[in-house]
Amino acid sequence: MAFSKIAYKALQDIVGNENVTDDPVVCQSYSRIQWTPDGVVQRNRLGVNMRPSCVVLPGSAEEVQGVIRVANRYKFPFIPRGTGMINSAFPNRGGSMVIDPKRMNRIIKVDEKNMYAVVEPYVCFAELQAEAMKKGLYCPTPPAGSQISVLANYSWHGAYSNSWVSGLGAHNLLAFEWVLPTGDIVYSGSAALPGAGYAWNDGPGPDLRGLLRGAQFGQAGGLGMTTKISCKLYPWPGPTVFPTEGVGIDKKSKFPEETFRWYMIDFPHEYPKDEEWALKKAANLFYEIAKAEIAVVVQHMAEQFLITYSSRTKNELFERLEKRTYPHGYCLIGLAATTSTRQLEYEEKVLKTIVGNLGGVFLTEKDPAYEAWVTNVGNEWIRVGHAQRLARPSDCFHQGTVNLDSIDSIVKEILRANREQRANLESETKLGAGLLQPLSVHGGWISPLEGGYSCIMTTDTYPEQTIEGANEALAVLFQALKGQLGVRSPGAVAALIGPAYDLLGPMFFNIHLLVKKIKKSFDPNNVSNPPYATTPEVISPEELQKMVQVL
Ligand SMILES: Cc1cc2nc3c(=O)[nH]c(=O)nc-3n(C[C@H](O)[C@H](O)[C@H](O)COP(=O)(O)OP(=O)(O)OC[C@H]3O[C@@H](n4cnc5c(N)ncnc54)[C@H](O)[C@@H]3O)c2cc1C
Repeated sequence: MAFSKIAYKALQDIVGNENVTDDPVVCQSYSRIQWTPDGVVQRNRLGVNMRPSCVVLPGSAEEVQGVIRVANRYKFPFIPRGTGMINSAFPNRGGSMVIDPKRMNRIIKVDEKNMYAVVEPYVCFAELQAEAMKKGLYCPTPPAGSQISVLANYSWHGAYSNSWVSGLGAHNLLAFEWVLPTGDIVYSGSAALPGAGYAWNDGPGPDLRGLLRGAQFGQAGGLGMTTKISCKLYPWPGPTVFPTEGVGIDKKSKFPEETFRWYMIDFPHEYPKDEEWALKKAANLFYEIAKAEIAVVVQHMAEQFLITYSSRTKNELFERLEKRTYPHGYCLIGLAATTSTRQLEYEEKVLKTIVGNLGGVFLTEKDPAYEAWVTNVGNEWIRVGHAQRLARPSDCFHQGTVNLDSIDSIVKEILRANREQRANLESETKLGAGLLQPLSVHGGWISPLEGGYSCIMTTDTYPEQTIEGANEALAVLFQALKGQLGVRSPGAVAALIGPAYDLLGPMFFNIHLLVKKIKKSFDPNNVSNPPYATTPEVISPEELQKMVQVL
């Protein structure tokens, strides 16, 4: 069976005529052009089949149950989505139903005392942050942008500008309400206990976060729809309203000196000749900051990120590239008066001692790099994560390599990937030469997590938004993955999603067989956003070849 007029009528009965549509024009808008290479390939492969057969807007968990049961009865695929930024939130076959959570947009609670919030799927980071700041709290900021869904991001990914405090998305998730692919509801954490509320995740009550989240990436809508979560909030020293001045690209923001201070730190060196020395210095700095238990933002950004994130226009980006405003990467540290201004003064003294001991230098307001980043756009790192500026280089972006490991292993991986990618550019294949250079696969983003316990990194690529550009970016990514497998980096688990389970599972204790069992048991009709989290059956090598084109 498939999507049909009868199924459509059943959906109308559940959500009301005004909350479901099969209008081709409206449906087409749910297949908009993707700016990631995977999306470009998906669009190229599917054409008009990227348009869903219908879009439904349930208003409650019970209505979500109803529409998911209809999908099971008539056996057509459904895709839960947040704000639809990543390609797995879009149809990858004809006859799909998109479940848009726009009507489920309530912040149910901000619990000041216990520092957590309860939110529905369409609450975005900007909304949650604004409400939390009123109560002296704040939440992580993804460089994907604070316009994205908190719930979708925590269930699916979660790399943040302030991950020194917040860790990954999975670390922020507490209790949740979950409609399974069959339409049954389960609760995780304290929400599973009558009257216990949404305050906690791991006991009493079952902790199902592992099922929901997978490795670095969650199940991408492949195991039903999460309809409510609680999540952690962190202390914010104020002000209670994010301070901004001006409009549009001229907007600036400054925090009061007694609550928050930025530092841009250099280990003067020549790039790329002394890249290894400088990155090891950055790692040592992070370990010392971890030991001293200070700071709220701890990052190392390569030139590619500094230029992309700080440039307010395309012109500015290409001018800065020419002028080499950032001749190499820098460390960025944020200190906050989390408990008092005295604490901030103390942390500043400690930071200055650490940096001095390591031979580092603090940039001053007169340095062009400081002016371009801290003076003009530093606070955006906490407000919007600079998201929109990812579009400055080429309107298309993909990670060239990604890894999750200890800080020093991450440094090794950046050095390995950069060496490999420079060699590619010089080789006969010239892999990467079609990407925007010298910005692509150049340097690395080092983002330590949870006070330095672990670390996430990426190097990014900027292809043109064409099928050739997309394929080249994906080839760079696959090659980096092959390199990671070659050195048996555990960070390669970051790639486990969709058909990649079949590709990599045998190298990771046959995890694909376990995930397939889960998919089969929870989604017997394979209707929840197939082929995510993975396919129920083992895929033949030929079929796999075709599928890995779109992860
Ligand atoms: C340019 C760019 C930059 C990015 N940068 C970052 C970054 O810095 N940090 C980061 O964490 N991520 C980043 N991402 C990854 C990703 O896009 C976001 O984490 C994600 O999109 C989250 O928000 P969304 O509302 O757009 O979710 P969507 O894209 O709508 O959904 C994400 C996935 O979760 C599933 N899903 C959505 N809602 C539910 C639900 N209620 N129940 C079950 N499944 C659901 C969807 O099917 C989809 O597979 C980036 C992506 C792009 C394109």
